[in-house]
Amino acid sequence: MQPSLYTNDMTTTGHSFNRLIIVSYRLPFKIQQSDAGTEIVQNSGGLVSAVLSMAEQMGGNADGTLSKIHWVGHADSSLNGIDPSTLENDSFVAHPVFIDNDVHAGFYEGFSNDLIWPLFHYFPTYAQFREADFQHYQQANTRFLEELNKLIQPGDLVWIHDFQLMLLPEQVRQSHPNATIGYFFHIPFPTFEIVKLLPRTWRQLLLRGLLGADVVGFHTLDYVQHFLQSVTEVLNLPVIDQRIVLPDRSVTVRDFPISIDFTKFSNSATATDVVIIRERNADLLRKHKLIFSVDRLDYTKGIPYRLQGYERFLEQYPDWHDKVTFVITVVPSRDQIPQYQELKRDIEETVGRINGLYGTIGWRPIIYSYTSLNFSELVALYTGCDVALITPVRDGMNLVAKEFVASRQDERGVLILSELAGAALELTDALIINPTDTQEVANAIKKGLEMPPEQQERRMKYMRQHLQNYNVFRWSNDFLTAFSETMTNQPNIETDLPVPAFITAFGEARHRLLLFDFDGTLAPIVNNPADAKPTDDLLAALRHLAGSSDLVIISGRSRAFLEKTFAGIPIRLVAEHGAFMKDPGEDWERLDLSGNEWVDPVRAIINQFVERFPGSALEEKETAVAWHYRMADANADDIETNAVDLATQLRRADSAVPLAVIQGNKVVEVKPAQHSKGTVALRIYEQTPFDFIISIGDDTTDEDMFRQMPNWAYTLKVGPGVTAARYRVARQKDVERLLRCMSEALVPVA
Ligand code: UDP
Repeated sequence: MQPSLYTNDMTTTGHSFNRLIIVSYRLPFKIQQSDAGTEIVQNSGGLVSAVLSMAEQMGGNADGTLSKIHWVGHADSSLNGIDPSTLENDSFVAHPVFIDNDVHAGFYEGFSNDLIWPLFHYFPTYAQFREADFQHYQQANTRFLEELNKLIQPGDLVWIHDFQLMLLPEQVRQSHPNATIGYFFHIPFPTFEIVKLLPRTWRQLLLRGLLGADVVGFHTLDYVQHFLQSVTEVLNLPVIDQRIVLPDRSVTVRDFPISIDFTKFSNSATATDVVIIRERNADLLRKHKLIFSVDRLDYTKGIPYRLQGYERFLEQYPDWHDKVTFVITVVPSRDQIPQYQELKRDIEETVGRINGLYGTIGWRPIIYSYTSLNFSELVALYTGCDVALITPVRDGMNLVAKEFVASRQDERGVLILSELAGAALELTDALIINPTDTQEVANAIKKGLEMPPEQQERRMKYMRQHLQNYNVFRWSNDFLTAFSETMTNQPNIETDLPVPAFITAFGEARHRLLLFDFDGTLAPIVNNPADAKPTDDLLAALRHLAGSSDLVIISGRSRAFLEKTFAGIPIRLVAEHGAFMKDPGEDWERLDLSGNEWVDPVRAIINQFVERFPGSALEEKETAVAWHYRMADANADDIETNAVDLATQLRRADSAVPLAVIQGNKVVEVKPAQHSKGTVALRIYEQTPFDFIISIGDDTTDEDMFRQMPNWAYTLKVGPGVTAARYRVARQKDVERLLRCMSEALVPVA
C-alpha cells in the first residue's frame, strides 16, 4: 500500500504560532475521578488526532518539546471546583466552561439544537424561534469568552468549532484585536432563503460573529457559496476571491472537507478482535449477503425513507428473500425529546412491519438495534457487509461513509450514498442516490448486491485513493496552511484585478483614458457631502497621472465643487452626471439642453419627503434635483423603503422632458434622461483611439459608464453590489493604493 501523503508523523514547520487553543462545545475527554485523584482520558475521535497532528506541524518549542494543546469546552457542574492542575495529560490541558443550568438549556437544547440544527439541515418546520434562547446563546458564548480571556496570549492560534459558538469569533476579536482566530462549521450552511427565516438581528449578529475569524471553513464549496451569499445579502460586504472584505482586514472563506484517520481504519480491518467479531457475525447471519447502516437517531439521517427503500426492494425482488439481511444500528441520541421519541417509534414500527410482512421462521429481513457500537464492532460491520446503505436526507459531511471506504482494505463492498451528504461530492464512485426516491434506493440495493467484484474493486480503489490523500491530517494541515497564507498574504490592494498585468498594460500604453467617479471612489463617503475631499497623496498621484494620460473626473457633483476640489490639476471635469464638461484651461461646456420646466413638480414631490424626515435635505443643482437622506433621523429600513417609494412617485410623475431617477448611496436624484455618465464617457472614448482605458466607480450612476466602455477596458466597481464592471476593488482606500501604484509605474514627469 502506498504511504499516505499526510500521516500523523508528518512535520511541517514554518507556521509561527506558539500554542494551539481549540474551542468546541464539548471537551473531548472523559474526566475520571478515583481514589488516586482526577485524570483526563482523551477520546479517540478524528478531531483529537487531527489537532494533535496540527500541533506537531506547528513545530513546537525551541527545546524540541511540543506545547500542550489547550482545549476549552463545556463541562457539567459536577466538575466545578476541581483542581485545574489535574485537568491535563501529556498532550492536552482541559479548560472546562461551566454554564448555569437554565442558560445551558436555552443555549444548547434550545437555540443550538431546536433552532440552528433543524434550520440549517433544511427542516424549518422543526425550528423553534425563542427570544430567551437567543439571549442564553449569547450568554453562553460569553462564558466561553471569559474562559478564553484567562488563557489567550500573543502568538496563540485559536480555533473555534461549530454552530454552538457562532458569536464567539467576534467576541474574541473584540477582546483581542490581534488574535489569530479560525472557525470551522461542522454542519451544512444552507441557502440564503433559509438564513432569511432567522430574525434580522439574529442573522446579523450570527454572521458578524463568524467574521471575527481570520479563516472560516466549511465542508463543501456549496456551503462556502451559501455563506458568502448570506454575508452579501445580510451585511452588504464586498466579497473578492472568497475573501470577505471588512474595513480593516479580510476574512478567508474556504472549503475544507473533514475526513478520517484513513490508516487507522484501513489497518483495523485485519486486527484480531475485528476478525473474530466479523466471523461470528457471518456465522450468525448464515452467510447471507449483508447490508449495513449506522447513524445517530436523528431526523436528518433519513432512516424511515431508507427502510421504505429496502421494503420496496424486497417487494420487487422476491428472489433475494432469505438471501440478504439488513443490519441497521441506530445510536441513541436525544431520545428524551418527543420529536426523537416519535422518530424512534416510527423506525421501530416500520422494522416490525417489514419483518412481519416478509420474515419467516428462519429469516429476519432486518436486524435492528438501538445501541452504540465500539470501534471493533463498527469496523467488523464495515468490513463484513456487502453494501453500506448511507442515505441521510441532509448531512454536513457523513464520516460513516468515509470510515466504511477506509476500512475496506480488501477493496470489496459497495457504498450507496445520498447525494444530500457532503461526502457525496468526494466519493463520486459510490452509487449516488436521492434518499427520498425509494425506487432509486431499491434499484441501487439490487445493483449493489449484484455488482461484479471487478467493478467493486475499481470503485473502491478510486475512493480509497482519494481518502488516503484527503485524510483528517490533510484537513487540519490545509486549515493551518490557510492561516499562514492569510496572515502573510494580506494583499496591499483588495481586488480581483490582476494588478501586475494591469500595471504592465498601463505602463506600456500610448493613449490612456482614466475615468474616475468622485464620491466613494476618489474620496470616502462622509456624512456631510461638503466635507468630502481626496487626500493630499491621492491628489499628488492624480497630478502625476494627468501628465501622461487623459484623466477625467466624472461626477454627479456641481461644477463649482469640482473646480475647487481639483484646482491646479490639469484634468478634464464632468459635472452633474454629464450635464457639463470642462477641459483644462477652457470654459465649461453645457451638454444638457433640456431646459428646466421639469423642476417645479419634482421639487414639490421631494419636499413632502423632506418634511416627513427631519435631517434629510433637498439639493438643487443646475440640471438635477436630489433628496439626501444620510443624515435623516429615521430607522434605516423605514427610510430605505421611503426612498424606494419616492423614486417610484418620481418615475410616475408627468414631465415635460424624459427624466432619469437614480437611487444612489443615501440619495435619490432626478435629472433629464438625455445625458448620463454613460453618454459622456462614450463621447470622450470615441474622440481618441485609446489603447488603455480604466473606469472606476462605486454607485449606480457609474454603471452607465461601465456599460458604455469597450469590453477590453478595465472597469472597476468599488465595494459590494451587483455590477456591470469586470473587476471589483474592495474599499475606497484600495482605489487610492491602486492609483498610487499606477503613478509609481510612470516615469517621473519633468
Ligand atoms: N460512531 C460512534 N459510535 C457508534 C457508531 C458510530 O462513535 O456506535 C461514530 C462513527 O464512527 C462516526 C461518527 O460516529 O465517526 C458519526 O459521524 P457522522 O459524520 O457520520 O454523523 P454525525 O453523527 O456526526 O451526524
